[in-house]
Amino acid sequence: MVYQLRCDGCDFEREHADWADANRDARDHEAEHGDHWVRIVDLQEA
Ligand SMILES: [Zn+2]
Repeated sequence: MVYQLRCDGCDFEREHADWADANRDARDHEAEHGDHWVRIVDLQEA
C-alpha cells in the first residue's frame, strides 16, 4: 500500500509506504502551515 499526501493549501505532495510515516508527515506539515489541510490518499499498487 502506498499513502500519498496531498495538501489543499499548497503543492506539497509526498508518498509513504508506511501509514505512521504518512501521518506524521501530514501532521508536521499542518503544524508548520496552520491553514493547510493535508489529505492522505491510499493508492493501490498495480
Ligand atoms: Zn501545504
